[in-house]
Amino acid sequence: MLTDYHLHLRPDDVGTAEEHFTEENVAEYLAAAESAGIGELGASEHVYRFRQALEYWSNPFWRTQARDDLDAYCEFVRTTPLKLGLEADFVPGAEDRLAALLDARSFDYVLGSVHFLGEAGAVDDTRYDVWERISDPDELWRTYFEWIAQAARSGLFDILAHPDLVKLWGDARPLPERDPGTYYEPAVEAIADTGIAVEVSTAGLRKHVEEIYPSRAFAEMCVEAGASFALSSDAHAPGQVGFGYDRAIEFLEGLGVERICVFEGRERRLEPLGPASERRGEATGSSGEAA
Ligand SMILES: [Zn+2]
Ligand SMILES: [Zn+2]
Repeated sequence: MLTDYHLHLRPDDVGTAEEHFTEENVAEYLAAAESAGIGELGASEHVYRFRQALEYWSNPFWRTQARDDLDAYCEFVRTTPLKLGLEADFVPGAEDRLAALLDARSFDYVLGSVHFLGEAGAVDDTRYDVWERISDPDELWRTYFEWIAQAARSGLFDILAHPDLVKLWGDARPLPERDPGTYYEPAVEAIADTGIAVEVSTAGLRKHVEEIYPSRAFAEMCVEAGASFALSSDAHAPGQVGFGYDRAIEFLEGLGVERICVFEGRERRLEPLGPASERRGEATGSSGEAA
């Protein structure tokens, strides 16, 4: 079994819901998944593209993005074979409001992300660059992973998305002086305590850092803590579905991970991690395509 649960049907900053939440667009994602041997696919649009997101956090970036209707998205995805997911930002202090937004809809899974460290700015967007406010890399990494720990402990999410996103600039930004393991520790402890799935995301391979999220060291700590993993590409276009999966599979196998998470109705089970070719063989004998 291979999954790709972190998919955006729309690229960042361009186009409209009407242009991208279409049967034709989904067909392209499905075709790409099939040729990559990926059996489980789900949409996880950014929460901040929906007007309802402003009910739990309103910042200048979100106000430029929050145009679409979350319920229309959910209804559309339910007309497709895709699982229904959402990528929701963790915002400390807004837990109850986000819980209300999530509980009112029947998602298959919710990805928890930390892009913004509140008003300090974003770790992945130069337009709202957190580095302008937190220039000390040790302070930034410590703060980021504390937020990741809080996100895990909030109980709001099924999967911790791109869990070391703070590294995405690679050597283009100063690296912490202390061993990053020091900063991973509270996050891994929270992962172990809550059982939240850890996303292995190939998106980092497309960024300056050119590395899978999370780092090998972080992932090893997660394995030691008994964590489960979810596999995704964070594609923003059909051509990115299953991007870099050869490396992701090698990465997981190298860690001794034999099973990955599959979600339905916010329940999860573990399925054997299968390379693309095996999965293709399995698919022909299976009637398990989603309705
Ligand atoms: Zn993200
Ligand atoms: Zn994403």
